[in-house]
Amino acid sequence: MGIPGVGKTTVLKSGAEKANVKIVNFGNVMFDEAKKQGIVDDRDKMRKLPTDVQRKLQKNAAEAIKMQARDEGNLIVDTHASIKTPKGYLPGLPEDVVRALEPDCLVLVECDEQAIYERRNKDATRVRDDDSLEAITEHQMINRCFAAAYAEMANGMVLIVQNETGKAEEAGDKIAALFS
Ligand code: ATP
Ligand code: AMP
Ligand code: MG
Repeated sequence: MGIPGVGKTTVLKSGAEKANVKIVNFGNVMFDEAKKQGIVDDRDKMRKLPTDVQRKLQKNAAEAIKMQARDEGNLIVDTHASIKTPKGYLPGLPEDVVRALEPDCLVLVECDEQAIYERRNKDATRVRDDDSLEAITEHQMINRCFAAAYAEMANGMVLIVQNETGKAEEAGDKIAALFS
């Protein structure tokens, strides 16, 4: 988990793969269903959908990932502790999602706000929000609160991993080490 542009997907691709555990992108699962239903044509539009629509897609994705874990065992889920919507922060793992995913460890990928600001601006492949440094700080702060709540519900651990510039692989190694 971590805020948009912090580098979750990069970290998982460049280091965490060493754990030899399948990585599932929660947003991909939601987006495949949203596309199928003709709701959106861009993954970055999902967080602007009405809250109840996001919740339904979220719940469906969690159930699909639960089934996958039943067949394949442990998974690493690339997702968000909270989604910044026009109406406020939507919990990424509300109770029904936590119960479906049963996370052993809630990993928060973090980085200093200036680097996140620059990563968002440099990455032309996505349409990320043009948040101020203060807004980025607030989002990272509230994500720690959400992570603590999820860990309590799941009886799991919280691990905070810093994704420093040029050191995505090192961050991934820390996630891979959870499986050793
Ligand atoms: P989203 O939640 O929107 O999917 P994300 O957290 O998965 O975002 P990435 O897409 O992995 O973020 O990374 C965002 C950008 O930051 C990419 O252009 C990526 O190459 C860059 N980046 C990620 N980690 C690092 C790093 N350690 N050093 C430098 N650049 C990085
Ligand atoms: P990502 O590529 O990780 O940014 O995921 C794309 C989009 O999927 C996000 O911007 C959210 O709209 C949505 N998403 C991902 N994880 C969750 C989650 N746990 N709950 C609700 N929406 C999510
Ligand atoms: Mg990503």
